[in-house]
Amino acid sequence: MQKLIVLGAGESGVGAGHLGKVKGWEVFLSDKGSIKEKYKNVLTNLEIEFEEGKHTSEKILQADLIVKSPGIPEDIPLVVEAREKGIKVVSEIEFAAKYSKAKLIGITGSNGKTTTATLTQHILKNAGLNSVLAGNIGNSMAAEIAKGNDPDFFVLELSSFQLDGMVKTKLDIAVLLNITEDHLDRYQYVFQNYIDSKFRIIQNQKANDAFIYCADDEVIQKQMEGLELTQKLFPFSLKTQVQQGAEISNNQLNIKVNQINCTMSIQNLALQGKHNIYNSMAAGVAARILEIRKDVIRDSLSDFESIEHRLETVVTVYGVDYINDSKATNINSTWYALETIDKKIVWIVGGVDKGNDYSILAEIVKEKVKAIVCLGKDNAKIIEAFKGDIETIVEANNMTEAVGYSYQLASKDEVVLLSPACASFDLFDNYEDRGRQFKEAVRSL
Ligand code: ADP
Repeated sequence: MQKLIVLGAGESGVGAGHLGKVKGWEVFLSDKGSIKEKYKNVLTNLEIEFEEGKHTSEKILQADLIVKSPGIPEDIPLVVEAREKGIKVVSEIEFAAKYSKAKLIGITGSNGKTTTATLTQHILKNAGLNSVLAGNIGNSMAAEIAKGNDPDFFVLELSSFQLDGMVKTKLDIAVLLNITEDHLDRYQYVFQNYIDSKFRIIQNQKANDAFIYCADDEVIQKQMEGLELTQKLFPFSLKTQVQQGAEISNNQLNIKVNQINCTMSIQNLALQGKHNIYNSMAAGVAARILEIRKDVIRDSLSDFESIEHRLETVVTVYGVDYINDSKATNINSTWYALETIDKKIVWIVGGVDKGNDYSILAEIVKEKVKAIVCLGKDNAKIIEAFKGDIETIVEANNMTEAVGYSYQLASKDEVVLLSPACASFDLFDNYEDRGRQFKEAVRSL
């Protein structure tokens, strides 16, 4: 029996283990941390051997194949040693794709992946296609296949870490939304390494495959100049007109694929804000490439309900809108949040800074932000960055306090926005926990 070792027992690792078992591999899962109870139950029920709290390298280095979870860095000694020994180390998606006949639509970018993947899936579902949403979104592709469900389409949200472990997988449709500096700690602090990782989304594509990308993104454009691309290209842009892809003219969104135009007013898009026009463009182009009917695309782009923690309006209290954008964990996504809102903003910001350059926000903060509520253990950098422009900056120790201050600071027709531009791990379990605490605090006002 071939030996499959899975490193990391989260959603994707357990899914990979399950699929390995179904396909006749001898499977062993190893997690250096503790494994969640629900996953332990799954593994026990499937009679898959596992360990937690350690990696037993003698056992792991016996592998014929290693599936590494995206959270585990490439450069830990165990992974380096495995590669040196000639053991292939791949991601769950790479492993799962070997056992799937589905057409693959892969979506990546520094921001907007979840939104665009969910929106794409929404259109495909409305068109009656048999499609499953998986990947970084928290649903394992491998687990789906292991359960005997190989749909006609997988819509895959792909992080750079997942792309790093993809070698032979070919995407029928690849979407690249944008590239801004993020996760550099995993890329030797070299931006180019992260860019190369994102561009793995188009590796192995052939002439009949499609590459949908943001033509307004300078990093993407520059990288493409140095590549010989043979697949079909579908740029989308808010600034220029395109031959194929998506563009805006006279407030109309035009999706142009194979000489057919699908047009709708941008006012009718369910997801508002510039960033979301890009996301709608990308999803719409993917749908047209699959020849989904124009009216289905229009309806789907206009009836889509926003996703939790992404510019999610929670409630309006005394004329003040409270908006939860907890998923904004970097500067770029917060910039788009501030850009989208047309009212004066009391801005809740802070957390674990991943190397933020706040000067990028200086202008928009000056224009739109009335007061800042810092919500992090260390707020010095934020205060330093904005104290010259914003008179009122306060510090909160927890979410209830942050919402309390915001309530006092915001007046009628203004907005309280939680868009932290930082990770959440100093005060919260994760961004979902942060967003939920915000909503609870707001609802109890
Ligand atoms: P991801 O899955 O890539 O983290 P999400 O769709 O979850 O992206 O959105 C994360 C954050 O980024 C949200 O706060 C959202 O407002 C913002 N955002 C969404 N789409 C874009 C985009 N195309 N460009 C920049 N920011 C975006």
